[in-house]
Amino acid sequence: MSDNFDVVVIGAGPAGYAAAIRSAQLGLNTACIDKSLGKDGKPAFGGTCLNWGCIPSKALLDASHKYLDAKEHFAEIGITVKSVGIDVPKMIERKDKVVSGMIKGIAGLFKGNGVTGLTGVGRLLANRQVEFTPHEGDRTIVQAEHVILAPGSVPAEIPPTPIDGDRIVDSTGALDFTEVPKRVGVIGAGVIGLELGSVWGRLGSEVVVLEALEEFLPMVDERIARDSLKIFKDQGLDIRLGALVTGTEVNKKGVTVSYTDSEGEQTIVVDKLIVAVGRKPYTEGLFAPDSGIDLDDQGFVIVDDLCATNAANIYAVGDAVRGPMLAHKGTEEGVMVAERIAGFKPMVNYATVPSVVYTHPEIAWVGKTEQEVKASGESYTVGQFPFAASGRAQAANDTQGLVKVIADTQTDRIVGVHVLGPQASEIVAQAVIAMEFDASAEDLGLTMFAHPTLSEAFHEAALSVAGHAIHMVNRKKRS
Ligand code: FAD
Ligand code: NAD
Repeated sequence: MSDNFDVVVIGAGPAGYAAAIRSAQLGLNTACIDKSLGKDGKPAFGGTCLNWGCIPSKALLDASHKYLDAKEHFAEIGITVKSVGIDVPKMIERKDKVVSGMIKGIAGLFKGNGVTGLTGVGRLLANRQVEFTPHEGDRTIVQAEHVILAPGSVPAEIPPTPIDGDRIVDSTGALDFTEVPKRVGVIGAGVIGLELGSVWGRLGSEVVVLEALEEFLPMVDERIARDSLKIFKDQGLDIRLGALVTGTEVNKKGVTVSYTDSEGEQTIVVDKLIVAVGRKPYTEGLFAPDSGIDLDDQGFVIVDDLCATNAANIYAVGDAVRGPMLAHKGTEEGVMVAERIAGFKPMVNYATVPSVVYTHPEIAWVGKTEQEVKASGESYTVGQFPFAASGRAQAANDTQGLVKVIADTQTDRIVGVHVLGPQASEIVAQAVIAMEFDASAEDLGLTMFAHPTLSEAFHEAALSVAGHAIHMVNRKKRS
């Protein structure tokens, strides 16, 4: 192995591996160091996203959705199934197989693009030297022209719910239950709480979600949050808002969780408790004291808009820096930094980072919520279209939710798109493209969408901004 690289990346999650691959594509001699070990104990590139995050959670979300569909909804469309069963070990084994295939895929991408993948611990020293301690073998020091830090994040913990990996687990543990627990408690009605609560609820667990805030999904458009709360409750998720967890007691029978709400002290008893109260940046052991990197008071690496730290030629990207903790946000930052190192001038447009909650129906959005636009004092117009009026949603027996388009009244420019519904994650991608190209609601209205598609609901919502929707009666009558 060479001791000198143009670029050394620490961390091979979606932010780090993208930075490394793009750097190598641009002709830079690049190494990427990652210390993660997979479930099989072998080195595993891909970070949280591949190992314990996006991919395994979606494998279980898809499997549990198919199970519930077969069990409860096939009969509605004329398919009778004699018995539908669950084989949890098989479901987990398939999820693990998907994960290990993706991990091998990153190793293959490194090889194919000429990235030197190093498995072990990286530590930034002064003067852009990086200490590399392999899982096996001797420690070495490599010299880098540029260093990109992409160490990611880990689950946040709270004192009342110490993780024991058995009864009380974090998101990683909740991806590996060996059977369907009878009663599941979830602390936090955020993205992870709703996704993993849905997985085990669909498979048959009684799920209680305790959320400290009075408001449900405060970052989501109010209408969408309100409608989705009702839908999730109807699905059987017992979501209790304003519930502050104060303690837990574990015994052979389960976990007693104490919390306070507006009515006073309460308890629930569950078999498994999933703690999903957020994530925190992970920089443990990453820097020598004289490396010149500063952290903010929450532990994030301080960077500017271009992901540069205050040390020359050292950058940080992904979950360990400000902004949403999302895989695609980190990937875009990693690619931007690689291209800047190579002399190009791209930027990340943080105004168009899409967010998705992969429940069913999915929640997806980009841009500002109605409450944000209202608070800013800008004048705006809303167009909405319910999936119940979509031919494709009716045909698919999947009609809950709506698309909501918010446009600036003066310019007609789209400032936010909010979707609750089937394949909302795919529909919002179209909204991101529209906003990237500064589209107006009229531009979208003049665009042809294939029929019958769920995306037509987006088209109709854009048309309804001006009161021109065709497949519903418009509330606003405009010429
Ligand atoms: P990470 O993916 O955390 O990767 C960092 C890597 O760096 C890790 O492998 C770590 O071991 C390694 N590392 C750290 N320090 C060192 C060191 N000193 N030396 C060597 N290696 C080091 N996001 C989405 O966009 N969509 C989703 O659907 C989604 N679902 C999720 C579901 C769950 C259950 C969880 C937990 C997260 C989910 N996320 C999702 C969030 C997403 O996983 C993260 O935003 C993303 O992985 C962050 O990427 P990253 O590259 O910054 O860090
Ligand atoms: P989150 O911030 O989405 O939700 C955490 C919730 O826990 C909040 O609603 C918070 O009010 C609540 N909470 C905090 N302390 C509490 C307490 N003591 N008692 C009760 N409730 C409490 O965090 P998360 O769900 O853990 O997810 C972490 C990160 O992972 C998110 O930032 C998200 O971006 C990322 N993620 C994304 C996806 C996706 O894109 N689909 C999926 C999973 C995770």
